[in-house]
Amino acid sequence: MGIDMKLNELTIKQAIEKLDAGEITAVDLARACLDRIKEVDDKIKACLTVCEKEAIEEAKKADERRAKGEKGGLLGIPYIAKDIIMTKGVRTTAASKILENYIAPYDATIIKKLREAGAVLLGKANLDEFAHGGSTENSAFGPTHNPWDQELVPGGSSGGSGAAVAAEMCIFSLGTDTGGSVRCPASFCGVVGLKPTYGRSSRFGLISMTSSTDVPGAITKTAEDAALVLQAIAGHDKYDASTPEEAVPDYGEELKNSPLLRGVAEGRGVLAGLKIGLPIEYYGEGLSPAVRAALEEAKKKFIELGTELKDISLPHSKYAVPVYYIITPSEISSNLARFDGIKYGFSEPEAQNLLEVYSKSRGKGFGREAKRRIMLGTYALSAGYRDAYYLQAQKVRTKIKDEMDAALREVDVILTPTQPTVAYKIGSFTSDPLQMYLEDIFVIPASLAGLPAMSLPCGFDAGLPIGLQLIGARFDESKLFQVGCQYQKATDWHLKKPSL
Ligand code: GLN
Repeated sequence: MGIDMKLNELTIKQAIEKLDAGEITAVDLARACLDRIKEVDDKIKACLTVCEKEAIEEAKKADERRAKGEKGGLLGIPYIAKDIIMTKGVRTTAASKILENYIAPYDATIIKKLREAGAVLLGKANLDEFAHGGSTENSAFGPTHNPWDQELVPGGSSGGSGAAVAAEMCIFSLGTDTGGSVRCPASFCGVVGLKPTYGRSSRFGLISMTSSTDVPGAITKTAEDAALVLQAIAGHDKYDASTPEEAVPDYGEELKNSPLLRGVAEGRGVLAGLKIGLPIEYYGEGLSPAVRAALEEAKKKFIELGTELKDISLPHSKYAVPVYYIITPSEISSNLARFDGIKYGFSEPEAQNLLEVYSKSRGKGFGREAKRRIMLGTYALSAGYRDAYYLQAQKVRTKIKDEMDAALREVDVILTPTQPTVAYKIGSFTSDPLQMYLEDIFVIPASLAGLPAMSLPCGFDAGLPIGLQLIGARFDESKLFQVGCQYQKATDWHLKKPSL
C-alpha cells in the first residue's frame, strides 16, 4: 500500500485490516469518501442522493460495535447503492421522473443485510431509468461521466455505481444486473463487477425490471472484495422465492483453501488443472482489435498460471440479443404497469378523468426508452403475437441455458470479453438504440441462463479500460473468485486509477 494512499482509495480488505487494528475509525473512512464525493462528483455525476448525516451516524454505530469487540465482515465499510434498490427513509428514484420524490417505506433485503453487517450507506447512484440501457444516458436526471474521460459514458445501467468505485468515492457499490448492467460499467470504468447466479442474492426491494433475470451484484476494486460483498448479501430470503434455502459457502475460506491451488505444491501453475472454455462465437467479428489483443494477453496469462484453454462452441449465443429484447420488454411492460398515477409516484394533477390519470401520469413520468420498451413488450405479449414472439423467445432461451450448462460440465469457467469495445462518447447511440442493444452481445447469454459472471480489468485501449468476463456454473461463484483472485495477483490492471 502506498504511503500517501488516502482512506477512500482502500479496498475492503485493506480497510477492514486498518479498522480491526484500530488505526482508523469508520467515521474517518466515511468522511474520506464523502470528501471525495464533494471533490469530484460535480464532474462525474455518479450520485443522485448523498446522505451525509445518516452515513456519519451509521459510521459512529459501526465504531461502537467494534469497540465492543466485533470485527471483520463489512463493519464500517462505506458504500453507494444503485438508486433502483430501496432504502428506507432515503429517496429511491430509479432515475425516473415518475419516482422523483419516492421514499421507500422499507429496505431491500440486501440493504437490510448490509445494515446488519454494519456497512455504511453513503448515497444512491445514478442509472439508466429503471435500468433500461447500457450507458446511463437514459437517466431522467442527466448522464454520469466516465472517470477515465468525462466525455465518455461510464457504461450502464449501473453507471453511477461503476463510476463511483472507479473515482474512489466509496469502497464498493451495489448494482443490479439484468442483462449486463453490473459487468458493463465495471468493464468501461476499469473495476470489478460481479453478477451472482440468479437467486443467489435476493431481489426483494429492487424496483423490478425483468424479474426472470434481475440480480443484484457488487462493484468492487478487486475480485477478493467481490467475495466479501457477496458473502454479506447472499442467501435465502422468504420474500424472494427464487433464493434457494441451501447455506451460502464461506467464500473467504474457499479462497484460502482453494482446490485449484493444488498445482503450487506440485510445482505447476497456481491454477493447474483448471479448464477454461473459449466460445469461438465470442471471438468473431465485431470485436474491437484492442479488446481482442487484451483477451489474447489474458489467455497467455492464464496459460502461465497453469490452466488448460479449450475452444468450445455456443452456437445459440447469436440469438441471445434478439431473445433478450423480446423477453425483457415483455416483463417490463408488465412490471411498469404498477406506475399508474394512483398507487405510487407522480400523478398528473390536471387529469380530468381516470383515463387521463393513467395516460398523462405515464406520458409525463416515463422517459423515451421506458416507453419504447413498454410498447415493444405489450406488442410481443398481445393476442396473436404472444406465441410467435414471447413463447418462441422463451424456447430459444432454454436452448441457450442448456447449451451453457452443458459447456460448464466440460470446463470450469468460460472466458470472454465483457464488451466488444471500450467506453464510447456520450450521445454516440442516441439516435440508434438498436446499435446500443448489440453492445450487450457478450453479457446477455449468462443473464438469460441465470449463470454467475464477473468482469475484471484486463488491459487498456488508448488509456481506456478493457474488461474480460468469466462465466461460471450455477452457484459456483467461488470458482470465479478463485480464478479472478489469481489473475489479479499475476496482473496489475486493477491497480491503475484514473487521474481526476
Ligand atoms: N443494457 C441492457 C438493457 O438495456 C442491460 C440492462 C440491465 O442489465 N439492467 O436492457
